[in-house]
Formats: sequence, structure tokens, C-alpha cells
Amino acid sequence: MKKSMLSRDEILKLDKKYVWHPYTPMKRYLEETDPIVAHRAEGLYIYDVDGTRYFDANGSWWVSILGHNHPRLMEALRRQSETLAHCSLANVTHEPAAVLAEKLIEFCGPGFSRVFYSDDGSTAVEVALRMAYQYWQLRGRPEKNRFVALSGAFHGETLAAASVSATQVFHKVLGPLLFDCIRLPSPAGPAGEQADDGWYEQAFAAAEKVLTERKGEVAGIILEPLVQGAAGMLMHPPEYLAKLRRLCDEIDALFIADEVFVGYGRTGRFLAHSHAGISADIVCLAKGFSGGVLPMAATVTSQRVFEAFLGGPSQTLWYGHSFTGNPLGAAVALEVLRVFEEQNLIGNMKEAAWALETGLDSLGRHPFVHNPRHHGLIGAFNLAPPGGKNRDADYLSDAGWRLSDELKKRGVFARPLGNVMYFVLPLNVRVCEIDELIGICEESLESAFGAM
Ligand SMILES: *Cc1c(COP(=O)(O)O)cnc(C)c1O
Repeated sequence: MKKSMLSRDEILKLDKKYVWHPYTPMKRYLEETDPIVAHRAEGLYIYDVDGTRYFDANGSWWVSILGHNHPRLMEALRRQSETLAHCSLANVTHEPAAVLAEKLIEFCGPGFSRVFYSDDGSTAVEVALRMAYQYWQLRGRPEKNRFVALSGAFHGETLAAASVSATQVFHKVLGPLLFDCIRLPSPAGPAGEQADDGWYEQAFAAAEKVLTERKGEVAGIILEPLVQGAAGMLMHPPEYLAKLRRLCDEIDALFIADEVFVGYGRTGRFLAHSHAGISADIVCLAKGFSGGVLPMAATVTSQRVFEAFLGGPSQTLWYGHSFTGNPLGAAVALEVLRVFEEQNLIGNMKEAAWALETGLDSLGRHPFVHNPRHHGLIGAFNLAPPGGKNRDADYLSDAGWRLSDELKKRGVFARPLGNVMYFVLPLNVRVCEIDELIGICEESLESAFGAM
């Protein structure tokens, strides 16, 4: 095994002197944090320079859809690197971009016909918003220029993506830099409470009222289908999506599915919104897209959206990034889909999803665990004293971190969303691995909050 060139201490010294970490209160980090110093990763596990092994229970921020360093993906990367690492994608094309687009359309289904490549989830959303905005101008309806999004939404960190997001802790500071959007209640329930199953119907009724009144100004609705991830893994039923799709057709608005997190089979179907038997006008894909190997994303559209742009220079989507369609990323992303197909991973994940559900239910017996929930291979629960029913992620709560510290001592790396602990597992995870994770979580809960 290749060793790191520097010792753990040497790496940490450079890190603490020079690196600014994402979503991290840096004062506390510099003073108190002893981070994992990752050296290598394989399958479910990340290995520290000191040799300690950690079960990566969040899939490295939800990207690791086939586990780390999947041999097929690494081989695709090596093969592609022998001929073409990068070239622009304007008046140039190449095999990985072309073949991947065809395969991706096949996976997305007959409602889709075009693929626009970009770099990460935020840019995939940025592209979708710009397409939708310009679409109505091209259709001669420039007054349809507003976006609709859910409360608690998270769509990324560029300014447009942050504008449709509603993650207060992250975005409050940006204030007037963000544009206004029409905010709908989350179908997962009212903030701070655990809703009953029928809540989504009330949320839909509220949506219907606002959107029918304001339909002349609505360009599109953007949402995370089935699971609002960063809001605290808030889940809603597919029936809500089916109703919303119908409403979009009635008020002539585009339905934008941000599947950056929920897409790629995690919920048991390639696209989460297809559980509702519907098809979006625009889909945003990232994270699992390249198996967590390279930053790469795509915005996939219907023919109707694409056709509006088939005109002269003024009808053009003047948008792109230096690395749009990067051949290395595309080659790896294509291999992800081939592995999905050959191993029927989406069809075969039911057993693992069931093991996760059963495991979470058993954790639910602990008095500090509330609302254990899952969708496919996404599982979550809230942490609060007995009787607490806090539903949203409270990012300033330390309950999740208390559990996270105990998990880390036992070889599991899981970063919480404040008071919400969650697990995001690769599609090829095995039942025994889930059982192991649940067992460690049970012990850690007892250490952090007392016996069951
Ligand atoms: C993570 C995420 C994004 C942003 O993706 P990045 O790759 O971090 O830019 C957008 N939408 C959703 C639903 C996400 O979970």
C-alpha cells in the first residue's frame, strides 16, 4: 500500500495553517477539531493516514453511489486519461459526452431528450433556473419570471440556487443579494411538528391557492422530490408530486425536479419523481452522477424546453463552464450507468432498503430517537429528549454531534444535520453491513444519551 508522503501531524499542520473548510466554524475547528486525515478509501470505508478505518455512513456528502474507488470506475478513468483529459464542448464534441448523453436519456425515460453538462449540483440547478427563465421569454411570456420553491428547500450555493433555497443558517447572511421566490409549505409538515400522513394534502391545497392566483407570473416550480435532504431528510409521499405536476400543467409552469441528491436510484427508482408516475420538464443531476469520483453534473430537459431554444443567437442559452462535459467525468459517469444496468443495482436494492428500515425501527425504541424514517437507502431520525418532537434540522443543536462523536469512536463517520442523524448508503451495500452500522449506532446512542 502506498503511504502518504507526509506524516499525519505534518498534514494537519499545513491544513490548520492554510485550509478554509466548507460549512465549518473555523475558530472552533482550529482550536478543537482533530479531523479524519483521509489517505485512501475503498467500498464503504475511508482510511485515516494512521490506519484507522471509518465506515462512511453519509456517502461522503451523498456522492458515493457505488462506494469508494469502485474498480470499474477507476478503470474507466484510467482508460479515458490515456487519450483525452479535457477539451471544451463548444463546437467540439467527444465520445464520452455523446455516449453518456444517450445512456442518460435512456435511464431518465421517454419524457426527456437533451442533456446539458455542468460541474456540480449547484450549477446543475443554476442551469435549470436559467433555462426556465429564458424559456418563457422565448415563448413570448416574459412576465412568467418567478420561481416557486418549498420551505426548507436546499438547492445549492450559487446565488440563484441559494435564492430558491430556504436554509436560514446558510443563507440568511446573504439577505438582499438573493432574489425573491414564492414559498410553499413543505409537504413534510409544519415546522417544528411531526405531521400526520395526510398533511401533504393541506400543503397541496395551500400551493394550489397561491399558484392559481399568481399563475401569470410563475416560470416554474423547483423541488427535491420525496426527500428534502439538507432540511433534515424530510420526507413526503409521491401523491404530492403527482398533484403538483397536474397543477403545473394547469397553470402553465415548468416542473423542475432537483434530483441532485434523491436521483440515481437511492429511493428505489432511477429518478425519485417517477415514483409518482410523472415526468418533470427539467431534471438536475449531480452527486451520484459520477459515482463521487469527479465533479460533474447534468441538467436534463424535455424536448419542449429544448425546442424553444432552436433559433438564432438571441434564442441561445449563453451559458457554460470551462469544464462542461469534461471527458474524464463523462467516461466515469457512463461507467456508473453501465454498472447500474449490468448488476441491476436499482432492482436489487430492496433487501438492503428493508434492512435499513428494520434497523431504524429498532433504533426508534431509544427514548431520544424520534421519527425514524427512510426512503430506499436514505435513513434518518431526530434526536431530542423524550417527548420532544422537533421535526426540522436545527443546525445549531449539538445533539447530532454528540452521537456523531460516539459513532466516530466506534469507527463510523457520520456528519449530522444538527439534531438529525442520517445515513446515506451506496446501492451496492450489503445487508450485513447495514446490520453492523445499526449495531454500532445502538451502542453509540446508549453512550451519548443513556440506555434504551
Ligand atoms: C447537494 C445538493 C445541491 C448542491 O450540490 P453541490 O454539488 O454541493 O453544488 C443541490 N441540490 C440538492 C438537492 C442537494 O442535495
